[in-house]
Amino acid sequence: MALTGLEIYKHLPKTNCKDCGFPTCLAFAMKMAAKQVSLDKCPHVTAAAKAALEAAARPPIQLVTIGADAQELKIGNETQLYRHEEKFYRPTLLAVRVCDTLEPAAASARLEAIAALSFERVGTKVSVEMVAVDNASADAARFESLARQAVEVTGRPAVLISAKAENLQRAARALAGKRPLLYISDPQQALAAAAVAKSENCPLAVRADGLEELADLTPKIEAAGLEQIVIDPGVRGLKATLEALTRIRRAALKNFRPFGYPTIAFTSAASAMLQVIEASTYVAKYASIVVTDLIERWQLLSVLATRQDVFTDPQKPVAVQPKLYTVGEVGADSPVLVTTNFSLTYYSVEGEVEASRVPAYILSVDTEGTSVLTAWASDKFNAGTITKALKASGIEQRVSHRKLILPGLVAVLSAGVEDESGWLAQVGPKEASGIPSYLKNQWKSN
Ligand code: SF4
Repeated sequence: MALTGLEIYKHLPKTNCKDCGFPTCLAFAMKMAAKQVSLDKCPHVTAAAKAALEAAARPPIQLVTIGADAQELKIGNETQLYRHEEKFYRPTLLAVRVCDTLEPAAASARLEAIAALSFERVGTKVSVEMVAVDNASADAARFESLARQAVEVTGRPAVLISAKAENLQRAARALAGKRPLLYISDPQQALAAAAVAKSENCPLAVRADGLEELADLTPKIEAAGLEQIVIDPGVRGLKATLEALTRIRRAALKNFRPFGYPTIAFTSAASAMLQVIEASTYVAKYASIVVTDLIERWQLLSVLATRQDVFTDPQKPVAVQPKLYTVGEVGADSPVLVTTNFSLTYYSVEGEVEASRVPAYILSVDTEGTSVLTAWASDKFNAGTITKALKASGIEQRVSHRKLILPGLVAVLSAGVEDESGWLAQVGPKEASGIPSYLKNQWKSN
């Protein structure tokens, strides 16, 4: 939580000695609150004041780092309860679980499937980032072996799950330097696991049987010298988990230190569809990591799409570059579809044009990333902006006809577009899903 200038001033020496380059301690405090100067510029601040200021300036939710080098992932440091108030900063990490009770062939197949869980959606690559290795067998050697294999095959950082601190230590040593997240499932072993996490330089996830026990546990872990903590309230099932995650986030943002850590949640429903709903719910509110048994691509793409939507900045529409795009082997008689540069709109149109198998041009007009109707209502998608984009795109040199296809929702623009551009404006379908039929059955270049 950012400190005000007056809160910082209370901890300064108040001698106005000017050694920091500012005329008074108050002036220095104000600059520090505005993040224009750092505390080390004051040579007279006491160690106690420094510690107090650093503790007070700590974020309400600790930043935790998992993985190393190119695989480094960060969670925590969130500042909001409601996304519309600012934004959520660190997308929930998804971890797909593999148990060490699986037969070797089945474990290998599952790891290969996890390695392939990457997708492209609205022009962005989205992936499952982690693999969760579950020591369900309680056997240390099997756990260590699968942990090695999981990281090697998937190329992803691991969550190592065990009820035994010594098993976590063995697997963590096998992954030395890769900084896996250690998850101790037995609360009685939490302090022993904290010692392991500290010695192996790994973050630690702890669970407790309910929020009160969790609030008792985390100060003990921190007192043991570990700040890189992830918390699991220990409840399972959608309603109880959602309630617990919400209470943790609320309390953390009110600076309740025992809950000031990123959270981990597990899907547990019997059916895959319900697990998709569970995972999507935890992504929206307020899990930092979701561990799931889902493995099919359609299941995880649903969750990743939810994550992508929740973790965009609501004040900045997701936009594509406004320009002329081509789909397929376009020629002089290919259709020209006009749309906005709102990412979701553009990729919906592009996907349907691809599905039609009719090579086409798509002219994406700069509407500051807003959708067709929003842009039309705010006068960003009008005869003038469409004509300007048309002329600037160079399309007149690439096609022999002079026909463009407008989104059906803005049929009202067609006369104005024809007057300004000199092109014939044809009214296309209202929904992108109508594009394949339109291009196959109604489009003619002459
Ligand atoms: Fe105050 Fe420190 Fe600046 Fe001196 S150096 S004026 S004590 S803030």
